[in-house]
Formats: sequence, structure tokens, C-alpha cells
Amino acid sequence: GTVIGILGGGQLGRMLSVAASRLGFRTHIFEPGANPPAGDVAHRVTTASYEDAEALRAFAETVDVITYEFENIPTSALDLLETLRPIRPDRRALAVSQDRLVEKAFLTDLGLQTAPYAAVDDAEDLAEALAEVGTPAILKTRRFGYDGKGQAVLRTPEDATEGLAAMAGAPAILEGFVNFTKEISVIGARGLDGSVACFDPGENVHREGILRTTTVPAQISDAQRTDAVLIAAQILNKLDYVGVMGVELFVTPTALIVNEIAPRVHNSGHWTQGGCAIDQFEQHIRAIVGWPLGDGARQSDVEMENLIGADMERLPALTRQPRTQIHLYGKTEVKPGRKMGHVNRIL
Ligand code: ATP
Ligand code: MG
Ligand code: MG
Repeated sequence: GTVIGILGGGQLGRMLSVAASRLGFRTHIFEPGANPPAGDVAHRVTTASYEDAEALRAFAETVDVITYEFENIPTSALDLLETLRPIRPDRRALAVSQDRLVEKAFLTDLGLQTAPYAAVDDAEDLAEALAEVGTPAILKTRRFGYDGKGQAVLRTPEDATEGLAAMAGAPAILEGFVNFTKEISVIGARGLDGSVACFDPGENVHREGILRTTTVPAQISDAQRTDAVLIAAQILNKLDYVGVMGVELFVTPTALIVNEIAPRVHNSGHWTQGGCAIDQFEQHIRAIVGWPLGDGARQSDVEMENLIGADMERLPALTRQPRTQIHLYGKTEVKPGRKMGHVNRIL
């Protein structure tokens, strides 16, 4: 039978493995860290470094197609893997999403709106960027940031020195602060045959840079809903993308501004598990094995809430709540800021 290789063994890899298993596929996880959440449910796990060419080769040879649950896969590993098996979504999506500067240029070239931005490698660049972009602004590392890590808010130009220090010498990007009224995301999918389907946009609330809740339907106009989906479709088509993608957008009174894209299933798409016949995980598996995309029409209103760190203390109460779907990732150690699970309240 078909075996799906997944790079990364976190909760996204875990939920992809469950979806694959339901469709009769086996998964093989490649993950450098010990005891990955996906390891409990995958058919097979390789624990090895991305530097280990032999392990990568052996992994690839056991699978039919390779996908991933995070975007920071080292280039050398991709160079090797792509000679052995199809990687879906392919390199183009990773090249764009691994580097915030490349991502912004890609989006701008598509004619989409982003926050004003400028590249920052040193203090001189930052002074110029601040003159161009103004304050307040956010300085972000170009690579490896997630959950708001590697970011510094510059309220005034006087915050420059401290902000630059927070980048620890890494190449960065300065973004003008977008005065958004809300944040939404579109979880889009594109099949091997080029067909595109998007889930209904969700409305996201972040706390300390980490997603707290996603609520569907988002409280936006019909025109905004259509525009958001068209933006996602444009991105998917331009990248000749295969699989599920998350597109994060800022809503302002006059525009939809693209924040960032994630070439994978996305935390803000977890509501689909409770709100759709086909959730984002099954949709991704369908796309990468060449099945037709499934029916992702929204069947109910849903609120997804992440269980982060000490939120786990509320678990006994949550288990008693009606219409509440509980998803736990099998992580034993609770840490502040660590995503332990989520709940979908079917409204
Ligand atoms: P993720 O975990 O979604 O990958 P990340 O670390 O890549 O997050 P961003 O999505 O860039 O970080 O930023 C996290 C949050 O910070 C955003 O969802 C938004 O709330 C806020 N933010 C980021 N950039 C801006 C901006 N230019 N203007 C206003 N708010 C911003
Ligand atoms: Mg991000
Ligand atoms: Mg984000």
C-alpha cells in the first residue's frame, strides 16, 4: 500500500498520520527529536538528523510521497530527498515561506498587499528602514520564527538598538505595524489536477504572539470573504501548489493585507475537524496522493481554542462540556507557551 513520508513529528504530523491512516495509508515520520507526538500514531518513525544523508535516503526509499509539517527543512536535506521521491508541496512553496523577505517580495509581485517592509542586516539598514517604514514597526528575523518568536516591537526609533540586539545578528526584516481590525486566515487546498478549494475564512485571536482561538464564520463582509479566498487561490496557483496551505491576513477598513503563508496544515484550520465533512488533514492527504479534493463546506459554526501550557488544568471541566471535541497531542511535559492540545466547540 501507499506510504506517506512526513518530515516533522509534532502535532501536525500526528494529525496528518491519523487522517492518512483513516484512508488506509501508512505514514513514516522523519524527526530528529526524541518521542515526537506523531510517533504514537505513525506506522514508522526515523529519529535522525537532517544532516544524516544515509538516514534520509533510507527514509525516502520506504515512502511513495514526501510531505512536511513545518517549513524550516534544511536545504541540503531537500536537495537529496527531491531526487528520490516527489515532495508535495514542492520546493517553491518552501523557498517562499522560509524567508520573510522572499515571501513579501513574492506577494508584492502577485499584486497583493503586505505591510510596508525593508530588509535589515545591520544598524545602518535599520536606521534607513525606520525612516522608510516609520514607527510603530516590528522587527522580525527573516527565518525560523514561529509563535511570535524572533520578533521585537519598535514603538519609537529609540527602540532600534534593543530591537537589533534581539535579532542576535540574524538577517531581519522591518515591517510597518498594521492597524488591523481583525485577523483572519484562509486554509486553502490545491489538488494534483490543479483544482482549488478553500475552507471558510476563520477569525483568529492571538495572545503573546501565539494563536489562542479561531472562530468560524469570521465576522467579515461577503466581499471580504470572497476576496480572502481569491487571494489564497492566487497564491496556490502561482506556486503550482499541491496540498493544504494557511494564508494569514490582516483585515483593515480598506484592505486585506497578507501577513504570511504557511505551506502546510495550519493551527487556524483545526476547526475543520469539527466543522466540515473533510477536515484540513484529510484534504492535505487527498491532495498529495492525487485524490480529488474533498468537500470542505462548513456545516456548523465552530470555535477552536488552543490548550497552551497551564490551560491543561481545565481539561477535567472541558471533558464535561457538551458539543466539545477534544484533541490532545500526547505531550507529557507541560511548558509555558507549549501547545498541548485544542478543543473545537461546535456552536
Ligand atoms: P506563526 O506562529 O503564525 O507562524 P510567526 O511567529 O510567524 O507566527 P507572525 O504571524 O509574523 O509570527 O506574527 C504573529 C502575530 O503578531 C500576528 O498574528 C499579529 O497578531 C502580530 N503581527 C505580526 N506582524 C504584524 C504587523 N506587521 N502588524 C501588526 N501586527 C503584526
Ligand atoms: Mg509564521
Ligand atoms: Mg503567523
